[in-house]
Amino acid sequence: MLLDLNLGFVILKSASMIQLFAKPVAEKIQKEVKQRVSRFKLNYGRLPKISVILVGDDTASRIYTQRKGELSSLLGMDHETISFPMDVNPELVRDRVRNLNDDPKIDGILIQRPLPKTFREEEVLYWISPDKDVDAFHPVHAGELLLGLPTFRPCTPAGVMELLSFYKISVSGRLVCVIGRSSIVGKPMAALLLQSDATVIQCHSKTQNLKELTRQASILVVAAGRPGLIDASYVQPGATVIDVGIHRTQDGRLTGDVRFDEVAQIASAMTPVPGGVGPMTLSILMQNTILAAERRENKNSSLLISAE
Ligand code: NAP
Repeated sequence: MLLDLNLGFVILKSASMIQLFAKPVAEKIQKEVKQRVSRFKLNYGRLPKISVILVGDDTASRIYTQRKGELSSLLGMDHETISFPMDVNPELVRDRVRNLNDDPKIDGILIQRPLPKTFREEEVLYWISPDKDVDAFHPVHAGELLLGLPTFRPCTPAGVMELLSFYKISVSGRLVCVIGRSSIVGKPMAALLLQSDATVIQCHSKTQNLKELTRQASILVVAAGRPGLIDASYVQPGATVIDVGIHRTQDGRLTGDVRFDEVAQIASAMTPVPGGVGPMTLSILMQNTILAAERRENKNSSLLISAE
């Protein structure tokens, strides 16, 4: 079907667009994690435990931290939140992380971002011991990921891979465009896609002729942090569009980097916001935490890397 979206040109409308909802995928992962937690408890007589460090009183960070605690409990894991005031000396937090690194009862540690400006991110990345770094932000994990070695997978990009796999959208041999090159989303996203044999175009704010590149891709992953950046003119008809962006509008709604209603007219599959990539991140965090616990108890336990 032909469709004129007042974009100055006519594009082919997709016959029926599939929404890639996270719910069934997240539930599947959480069910598996719950079973592994039960086995872990039987085998080792203790619960896997995650510690979350929260600095300051940012509302969104508090909500995210609370959700981590709630899901840990739901899946049978132990958790704690260690809070510090906004003006804490970073050295104090680093000392606390060191204690957690040495604590045999702690399997996973996570430092909630954003941190106050007094913290130097390039130093904080090294604080958590790699075997407890369930966010997979440590440079050791980043390096392992690039080399294709077994490693923890960063939660949001791994969540995207799980979504694609669940909905049987193969990336092997396909041209995938990733918008964004941050250390927590864009770069590991491209590495995981490459690992799964995609041909990857990585774009960023200095990329010229962005639209020409995105329109070549049969899968477009958008992680630019720019609300509504992507309209239908950036999308190849029939493409799969993954929207990692998450923003709160002035009237309190959640929205992404992609103009959903417009792009839905030509894409073959899309993640909604909310309900798409967002809920996957937390599920992968739980998966990484049980994996960290299993590995610490059983050094031979293998790590996950492939999403397909
Ligand atoms: P970030 O650190 O701000 O990185 C944004 C990236 O997008 C940068 O690489 C930037 O390029 C690029 N970019 C910005 N504007 C662009 C443009 N106009 N054209 C092309 N590239 C552009 O953000 P992030 O941490 O990766 O997060 C991205 C989005 O995902 C945010 O909305 C964030 O809230 C969301 N997020 C969601 C989850 C989840 O669980 N769903 C998790 C993490 C993040 P330069 O490198 O050149 O600056």
